[in-house]
Amino acid sequence: MNSLRYDLHAHSTMSDGLLSPTELVKHAVRQRVNVLALTDHDTTEGVEEALLAANALGVIVVPGVEVSVTWNRRTIHIVGLNIDPHNGELQQGLAVLRRFRDWRAEEIGCRLEKAGIPGALQAAKRYAGGASIGRVHFARFLIEQDYAADMRAVFKSFLVKNKPGHVSGKWASLEQAVGWIRAAGGQAVIAHPARYRLSATQLRRLIGEFIESGGEGFEVVSGTHSHNDCCTMAMHAQRSSLVASCGSDYHGPGNPRIELGKVSPFPSGCTPIWESPRWRLYDSARGGYPLQSDLERWPRG
Ligand code: AMP
Ligand code: MN
Ligand code: MN
Ligand code: MN
Repeated sequence: MNSLRYDLHAHSTMSDGLLSPTELVKHAVRQRVNVLALTDHDTTEGVEEALLAANALGVIVVPGVEVSVTWNRRTIHIVGLNIDPHNGELQQGLAVLRRFRDWRAEEIGCRLEKAGIPGALQAAKRYAGGASIGRVHFARFLIEQDYAADMRAVFKSFLVKNKPGHVSGKWASLEQAVGWIRAAGGQAVIAHPARYRLSATQLRRLIGEFIESGGEGFEVVSGTHSHNDCCTMAMHAQRSSLVASCGSDYHGPGNPRIELGKVSPFPSGCTPIWESPRWRLYDSARGGYPLQSDLERWPRG
């Protein structure tokens, strides 16, 4: 019987979240989350700090990442869990994606400028505070300047396809993303699969290619899924024998719908990823993976 509370998808200030890794771990304690994965966009920069905070506060932190992927001209996200943050292949891959982010930020800034909105790049840099810039940082500026009322509105009017601040993604391939995660000893999970608005046929194709590349998990439960989405995604996971993951996709306070640790139980028939044979918690103290039998003593030992 495993009664731990898992939240396997959350962001910090190292990407587009609002809490530092330490603040995020402290918030996990408040939310009674026992196992928290830090999954920033295209970076593992915050993992070390989160592991340190976790050791002090009795939370188990799973080193993670959310890799941006271009698949069939769409952007999809692949979460890597229990990755070794020191793995060279993973880090080289992520560095390429961050270079694209830097280039894209300049491009978004130019396009907004042409659309009559000056100063967006400088402001986005300020909001990112040294982290690599995401669309959310532009969104915060546009909201602050009253170009839109909230996140949803600002994306819809400025940052998606056919809008002034849109730049097409040129991210990793699905094979690359899963390959980097596996090279780093981790397990790959398709993040928030219901968000992509794929037809059942397209989703089956995505899952097929994902499994062929070595992917294992499916984020059946996400803070961004409706109850209905969860049930549909549970069915897809079971049909393809993917293990199920759950995560809030927390980005910080301010979004009442998405709270850290607020993840509903899996629909029946799902196998949780933490019960899969390859689930191995990364042991920061030893810089490696503990044996399953060590886990009772960890992370205190
Ligand atoms: P990026 O990786 O920089 O292109 O930004 C992707 C991030 O933008 C996602 O992880 C969300 O945090 C946010 N995002 C994307 N679409 C929306 C939306 N429609 N409403 C609010 N936030 C969004
Ligand atoms: Mn985000
Ligand atoms: Mn995502
Ligand atoms: Mn996310």
